Amino acid sequence: MCGIVGYIGNKNAAPVLIRALKKLEYRGYDSAGIAVYTGEDILVKKAKGALKNLAERITGEIIPYKPADKEFDACELSLFDKTGDFVKGTLGIGHTRWATHGEPSDTNSHPHSSTDGTISIVHNGIIENYAELKAKLQAEGYVFQSQTDTEVAAQLIAKAYKEEKDIFKAVLKVLHLIEGSYALGVVCKDYPDRIICARKESPLIIGLGKGENFIASDVPAILEHTRDVYYLGEKEVAVLYTDHVDMFNFEGEKVIKEAKHVEWDMDAAEKGGYPHFMIKEIHEQPKGLTDTMRPRIVKDNSGKASDVYFEENKMDEAWKNAKRVVITACGTAYHSGVVAKYAFEKIARMKVDVDVASEFRYRNPILDKDDIFIVVSQSGETADTLSALRLAKQNGLKVVAITNVVGSTVSREADDVIYTLAGPEIAVASTKAYTTQVLCMYLLAIKAGKLRGTLSDEDASKLLSELETIPAKVQEILDGKDVIQKFASTQFNKDKIFYIGRQFDSATSLESALKLKEVSYMHSEAFAAGELKHGPIALIDDKTLVVAIASEPSLYDKIGSNMVEVKARGATVLVITQDSGDAFKGKADEIFRIPECSSTLASLLTVIPAQLFAYYCSILKGIDPDKPKNLAKSVTVE
Ligand code: GLU
Repeated sequence: MCGIVGYIGNKNAAPVLIRALKKLEYRGYDSAGIAVYTGEDILVKKAKGALKNLAERITGEIIPYKPADKEFDACELSLFDKTGDFVKGTLGIGHTRWATHGEPSDTNSHPHSSTDGTISIVHNGIIENYAELKAKLQAEGYVFQSQTDTEVAAQLIAKAYKEEKDIFKAVLKVLHLIEGSYALGVVCKDYPDRIICARKESPLIIGLGKGENFIASDVPAILEHTRDVYYLGEKEVAVLYTDHVDMFNFEGEKVIKEAKHVEWDMDAAEKGGYPHFMIKEIHEQPKGLTDTMRPRIVKDNSGKASDVYFEENKMDEAWKNAKRVVITACGTAYHSGVVAKYAFEKIARMKVDVDVASEFRYRNPILDKDDIFIVVSQSGETADTLSALRLAKQNGLKVVAITNVVGSTVSREADDVIYTLAGPEIAVASTKAYTTQVLCMYLLAIKAGKLRGTLSDEDASKLLSELETIPAKVQEILDGKDVIQKFASTQFNKDKIFYIGRQFDSATSLESALKLKEVSYMHSEAFAAGELKHGPIALIDDKTLVVAIASEPSLYDKIGSNMVEVKARGATVLVITQDSGDAFKGKADEIFRIPECSSTLASLLTVIPAQLFAYYCSILKGIDPDKPKNLAKSVTVE
C-alpha cells in the first residue's frame, strides 16, 4: 500500500522519479517501477526488491537532473552515468509496491499497462471488486500478465478509452466501476502533455513547481522541489500539465482549491505530520480495519452483511470437520490468539488452545490431523512461529497463516493465508497490525461458526454489521485521545502498572501491558482480574496504577469489586469501559469511556486507549517509541 510519484515538466523524468521514490522508502515496499513517455511510447521498467535493482535495470542515456547542491547515493548516481538511448522523457510515473494482491515479483510490480501499451498506471490501495471485473474482461478476450488488482484498472481504462475516445472521460468512467481504496496515477501515450490522478481513501498530493508539477503519496517525495501543494480530496480527480492543474470531482465537475504551503521538515513529513510512526500507525487503524474487513464481508441482496469470504481460503472442509483450533504466535501476535480463544469459543463454539511459539515447539505437543493450526506473524518471518508452523505441517496439520506481508515465508509455507491489510508497519511496537489480526480472528470465527452450523445466519449478520461500525468507533476514541494524554502526564512516574480484566478483557490486558513495557520501559503486568487476590494483590501500594478493562456489563460488579480492593490498598485506578451510567462511580479515579459495543467485539476498541497510554508515557519519559531499546521489528532469531 505504498508510494506513488509522478512528474511532468522539462527535466528528465526517470531520475526525478527514482529520487522521489527514495524519499518514500520509509513507507516500506517490496518492489518498484517507473513508466516514462519517451516521445513515442511509454517505457516501463520495474524490479522486485530495492530501488537499486530498478536503477540497475534502467539502461541508456539519461539527461541528468542533478541539482548541484544535493547529495546523491550510489543508487541515484548510477542513473546519471547511463549512456545509450533510453529514457529521455519528461513525463512519468513511479511506484513502490507493498503487495496486497499477488506476491512481490517483477511482473506484479507497478506500473501496469494495458495490453496495447496505450495506458500505464500506478496504484496505491486495493480494488475490492477486481476479481469480478477481471473475469468479465477475460471473457471479452483481455489477457492479463500479473496477479494484481491494479492491472484490471489499467485494462479497464484502456477499454473505456476505446469507447470514449477521451482519456479523462475514460478514467472517470472507470472510477465509477472500481470499488475499494485507491490512489491512481495514469499516463496515456496519446496525451503526452498530462498526468491524470485520482483518489478515494488513499492519500495523494499534487506538488506545484515552476513549469513542472508532481504527484505523490506523501510530502517527502516532493519537498526538494516545492512546498506548495494541493491535497487532493476524497473522490477527486486531477489533470496535471506542466504549467497548471485542473481538479474535478468524480462527476467531472470542476473543483477549485487553494494551494497549501507545507512547513514540515523532512522528518515530520515522513510521519505525515505526526511526531512518531507509532502514533501515526495508531491513527491508521480505522483505515487498516476497513481495508481488512471490507473485501471479506459478503452482502446479501438487501445490502445486509451476511457472510465472510476469504479469497485465499481453500479450507472450508477442514473447518467443518476440525475438532480443535491451535493458535501459535509470539508477542503481540500471540495476544491476538488469546482474543481468538474467546472469540472461537463464543462465536463458533470451537475448542481452542493458544500457545507462544517458543514454548509450543519445545514441548511434545499432542496434535491431531483434524486440528486447524493458525499461526500469526506481522512480518511473516518470525523464526519461532515459522518453526512451529513447520512442526505442525510435519504432523500432517492444515495451517492457516495470518500475516501482514504478502509473499513472506510464513505465507508461502502455510496451506492457507489471510492477509491483514494494515499496510506496512514501521514502529517497532505493533498497533495496527495487532488490531487487524484480531479482526481476522473474528472474521474466521464467524466463518467457522457458519460453516459448522454453530452460529445462526441472523447472529452472523448481526456480528458482521457491528464489525462494520468498529472503524468509526476507533476513530471516536482517537478523537478523544487528549484525556488519555492528560492522564498519562499524571501517571508516567508510577512504579508499576497492572492491567486487569475478565474474559476478552483479560486478553486485551495482556496486550496493553506489553505495549506499555515495550515503549515506556515501565513495569507493567496483566492479570485476569479474579487472580489478583491469589497473589498479585500483595504488590499493590500507592505507587501502583491499576487499569481495569471492563467491556462486559454482566461482569461490572465483579471487576468493580476488584477495583475497590486495589483502591483500598492505595492504588490509583483507571477504568476503560463502555458503561455510561454509574457502574464505576467511586471505584475509579478516572473513567475512560469507549463507544458502546457488544462485549464480543469490544477487544477492537478497549486496546486503543491502552496503545495511546503507552505512547504518551513513552514520550513523557523521553523515549523514542519507534525504536525502543533491545527490540527489533521482525524477530528472525530463535
Ligand atoms: N493492490 C496493489 C498491488 O497489490 C497495490 C499495492 C500497493 O498499494 O502498493 O499491487
